[in-house]
Amino acid sequence: MISEKIKKNDPAKRGMLANVMRQFEHASDSIGLNPNIRKILAITNNELVVHFPVKMDSGEIEVFTGYRVQHNNALGPYKGGLRYHPTVDLDAARALAMWMTWKTALAGLPYGGAKGGIQIDPKKYSTAELERITRRFTYALGDNIGPELDIPAPDINTNSQTMAWILDTYMSTKSPNERSKNLHVVTGKPLGAGGSEGRDRATGFGVFLCVKFWAQQNKVDLKDKTFIVQGFGNVGYWASSFLENEGAKLIAVQDVTGTYYNKDGISVEELNDYQNSVGSLEGFKNASLIPSDKFFGTECDICIPAALGNQITAANAPGIKAKVIAEGANGPTDVEAEEILLQKDITIIPDILCNSGGVIGSYFEWLQNRNGEIWTMEEVMEKLEKKLKTSFDRVMNVAKERGVDPRTAAFMIAIERLEQAYIQRGIFP
Ligand code: NAD
Repeated sequence: MISEKIKKNDPAKRGMLANVMRQFEHASDSIGLNPNIRKILAITNNELVVHFPVKMDSGEIEVFTGYRVQHNNALGPYKGGLRYHPTVDLDAARALAMWMTWKTALAGLPYGGAKGGIQIDPKKYSTAELERITRRFTYALGDNIGPELDIPAPDINTNSQTMAWILDTYMSTKSPNERSKNLHVVTGKPLGAGGSEGRDRATGFGVFLCVKFWAQQNKVDLKDKTFIVQGFGNVGYWASSFLENEGAKLIAVQDVTGTYYNKDGISVEELNDYQNSVGSLEGFKNASLIPSDKFFGTECDICIPAALGNQITAANAPGIKAKVIAEGANGPTDVEAEEILLQKDITIIPDILCNSGGVIGSYFEWLQNRNGEIWTMEEVMEKLEKKLKTSFDRVMNVAKERGVDPRTAAFMIAIERLEQAYIQRGIFP
């Protein structure tokens, strides 16, 4: 079993997989999960590793390694993002796929969990090369993905353009009369290529909504509250933008190039315009560059990690001043850090709830494609808010009723839903 393999490993080398397994084991112990179902959920269903050659602009051939891990499909087709990053490997994909299973189960969606990507630093490649890499990766995945089997979406360093290339490549491999039936093989597409209104902002909007629900529950007015954001990509930008609209103030932001601080506030739109013109936050003038290890210790009300996993650890957790941590990223807080934060009475809105706006938005896109419908932005945002509010209230109520932290409550709800599906259906043969 994966968990046994990890326990034997050096704790210092434990990564996201160890983290998600410890979260799973803790929640499973808390609900007394049926031991047979525990065996099934503790391991991934399928793991695909592909090596594929791509011709570079120079004419040289480079061979890339791509991954797709399908953790569980008891509740519906596998669903989860594709990440292009040097840290992508089998264990990272396993961990992220597992989180997807809990996330879709918690949100009450008819999906399972998957994740994948390519071990690559996309900054080193031209757009034309990235297109060929994406298309060849899609071809290598073949019928291991599919609109009713496994539906990828954007994640770190992938976006709507990446999804459009995947869609076009996947459809091109089908016979002409099958092609249009495959529009929902990926979500997060551009609007013109079958995408949905609102999918671009769905994850960040969901992060914002969770902060808003938390504020309402705790009778906190978000106006003039300060927030810090790690990662100013799709999730970080949109979460910041919605929070700023509510009157909150961004005072520190970190991306891969550094940490930028201004106690008087940083304009989110100005920062976004700068990033769109320069490609990163490097050189942004209306904030001072501060040492990156000072980021999480910034005096603020709200902290939004929206970059990589395992960023909040036992090393920086004691210095965190925020009252609430809204996890935009997947797995940003490790288990040791979580214990420290809970002791400090800091609320953590867990990733599988906090960033689930993305997969809920993806579900809406998939439904529209499948049914030949086109919804308005208002419809999408309204449905998203309703669904997320239901999840948020459920998690907080279970946390209160059963005397557990919100993450454990979220895992308990998700795992109990899967347990019920297995008990009702039984195991073939
Ligand atoms: P993105 O590629 O759009 O942005 C990533 C951001 O993180 C960039 O600003 C980048 O500079 C920054 N970053 C990268 N490495 C960093 C480092 N070492 N230190 C500080 N900043 C760093 O990615 P995204 O889609 O916004 O995803 C961010 C996180 O949110 C990921 O954990 C992803 O799994 C999660 N997430 C994304 C979605 C989605 O719909 N895109 C949905 C759910 C969860």
